[in-house]
Amino acid sequence: MTFLPNSVEARDIAYQLHPLVDLQNYGKTGALVIERGEGVYVFDNTGKRYIEGLAGLWSVAVGFGEMRLSDVAKAQMDKLPYYHVFAHKTHGPSVDLAEKLIQMAPVPMSKVHFTSSGSEANDLVVKLIWYRANALGRPEKKKIIGRVKGYHGVTIAAGSITGLARNHASFDLPLDRMRHVSCPDHAGMALPGESEIEFSRRMAAELEALILAEGPETVAAFFGEPVMASGGVYVPPEGYWQEIQAVLRKYDVLLVADEVICGFGRTGEMFGCQTFGIEPDVMVLSKQISSSYMPLSAILMTEGFYAPVAEESARIGTFGHGFTASGHPVATAVGLENIRIIEERDLVGNCRRRSPRFLARLAELAAHPKAKAWRGIGLIGAVELKPWQQAGAAGAAFQAAAMAEGVIARAIGDTLCFCPPLIISAEEIEAMFDAVARALDAIS
Ligand code: PLP
Repeated sequence: MTFLPNSVEARDIAYQLHPLVDLQNYGKTGALVIERGEGVYVFDNTGKRYIEGLAGLWSVAVGFGEMRLSDVAKAQMDKLPYYHVFAHKTHGPSVDLAEKLIQMAPVPMSKVHFTSSGSEANDLVVKLIWYRANALGRPEKKKIIGRVKGYHGVTIAAGSITGLARNHASFDLPLDRMRHVSCPDHAGMALPGESEIEFSRRMAAELEALILAEGPETVAAFFGEPVMASGGVYVPPEGYWQEIQAVLRKYDVLLVADEVICGFGRTGEMFGCQTFGIEPDVMVLSKQISSSYMPLSAILMTEGFYAPVAEESARIGTFGHGFTASGHPVATAVGLENIRIIEERDLVGNCRRRSPRFLARLAELAAHPKAKAWRGIGLIGAVELKPWQQAGAAGAAFQAAAMAEGVIARAIGDTLCFCPPLIISAEEIEAMFDAVARALDAIS
């Protein structure tokens, strides 16, 4: 494809390195230029309108163009655009949001530390786990277990817990303290006649066998998304989290709930932990915490997790960690206002009310001759296409056809993912899936 000289498209190809593309051939297709957003819609630079079927990157809960958030950002920018929380300094917005998160947490949490992205947060959790192991005089208890198809980000430690080969290849990941167990994909991996609960017990037995093989005295933590999202949306089968947590408790292994996508209403409760009865030691939040209007993430930890960390810092004389943007005043002010909007407009309730039609339409799509299965809960779901000769070709063709029909959906290989803004109306759900069905008809 050729673009006008000096156009955004041409300058994008010239200057910007993009994630998740073949860099060398990027210029052959270039990018869709999105110019503005309103509600569940975004508009490209020709004025064409799209339903954002993935809420940006699973994140714009309150929709685009929410003026309350831009007003709060402007007011905070005018008053105090930046300050830090290093050493003995603080500011109101970071304290207000930390207090709010502690009040909202599904299990008693003691402290909050702010970061700017999900990767950064998960990376720091790994550092804290290692610091804590040293504090407890158990320096060998540092291995971390993630899951195949789990996604926790792309920095060195978080990328190592991520269980996706495409994120490891040639980056020399994973780090050697990281291990992975199976993705809890009952539909794809169950033995003949194996019920969901039997499958969940088998997944827990696999985890236990790994912990025993490594030596429980070497295994520190298990990281899991309540619903695995970026790996292709896998809703845990019945009893999965109960069985997994029993094994973790037995061997004194910490549980880190990565709520970066599930948090703030995606599964029909405020947190995925509530939907599945998960009692984590650490929770990681991002994305819908600010509807991604500002980069923001947060780590919440229990007192039992925090206390040894605090003792170690006293022993050393300081806590030798900190990011310039931790608790950034504009980001935390926007985060708090965003959570107020989620609560005042009952967007968690809207998720629950819209969910039955959302899931029914996914099921309808799965009955299409080009599709084979669906998965979903709340307002997050996926449809698997029957693969063509080359893996990913059907997904890519669908993604392009959906854009032509005015929907942005994300194809992960041949899995089509849907995760619209939580404000989506009944009519918008029908319009999105009508367009998606036409796109599916159009590909061959
Ligand atoms: N954890 C989960 C569950 C995610 O889905 C993501 C991003 O999609 C991350 C962590 C990484 O977040 P970020 O892209 O902000 O680094």
